[in-house]
Amino acid sequence: MKLRSLYIFHLDTGACNGCEIELFDVLTPYYDAERLGVRLAASPRHAHAMAVTGPLTRQTYYAAKEAIKAMPPKPRIIVAIGTCACSGGIFYNGYPIYRRPESPREGQEYPRRGGIFELVQDLRDEGEYVGPVVYIPGCPPRPEEILYGVALALGLVEKRAKGEHYTEEAGFELPEYPIEERIRLSLRERLKYVVGYFDREGILRDFMELAGKAESVEELHRLIEDYCLRNPDSRISLAMRVLEREFLRLKEKYGWEVGMNAKAPQGEVRGVQVAVKRDAGSR
Ligand code: SF4
Repeated sequence: MKLRSLYIFHLDTGACNGCEIELFDVLTPYYDAERLGVRLAASPRHAHAMAVTGPLTRQTYYAAKEAIKAMPPKPRIIVAIGTCACSGGIFYNGYPIYRRPESPREGQEYPRRGGIFELVQDLRDEGEYVGPVVYIPGCPPRPEEILYGVALALGLVEKRAKGEHYTEEAGFELPEYPIEERIRLSLRERLKYVVGYFDREGILRDFMELAGKAESVEELHRLIEDYCLRNPDSRISLAMRVLEREFLRLKEKYGWEVGMNAKAPQGEVRGVQVAVKRDAGSR
């Protein structure tokens, strides 16, 4: 795409302000984006491109959609600035992140990814034209990287620089975690939706200790109820009850006995003591 100039509208979809500072740095006389014909537009109605920062939270989703729809029908370039806008960044799979309600990616295995991707998909599914999306990762990206991304959108890079593309075969395989570690990680993920970062590790550690002590499902339930009585904070009680349900679901799913048997061999999993017994049948 070749454009002589680019009017760009800035849209914040839940950023921490780090990316904004770098973006505005690009517009100062030091980096002087105007020499490339880049100007900040005051309204999406005047903008060729939308510079998006932030992970696209549930609260900003609908406003962002309206803003993109308000742009002229073409070229509607989206410039995702920062890792948050590209893929969710540190908010990846977090509870405030938007996920399409009808998304087939339901369940724990299909996380809320975050980033502008979901919104672009939704708009395209609705038949709205959305132009190319330029991703500029970095937390935050440096002004030079933002300028490079914008120059790419303007088609200036091909004109002024000659690059080479190469691919490399990746010789890397994801490790297969032991089943007890997978259960622990799944519980940890589930907990994130309930309490965020509020004492997440402490609650999980207490739960795993109770699960290690319990001899049966009923005993686990009783231990958790006692624990909730001792800890009147409703957030902790809710988290423990959610963990109990999730733990029983995972136990059923994997067909494993994790904890609930004092005689089972003890497995050390990243600092958390988990009693593990293989193929013991469900109780
Ligand atoms: S990418 Fe980093 S700097 Fe930018 S909004 Fe996200 S957390 Fe903030």
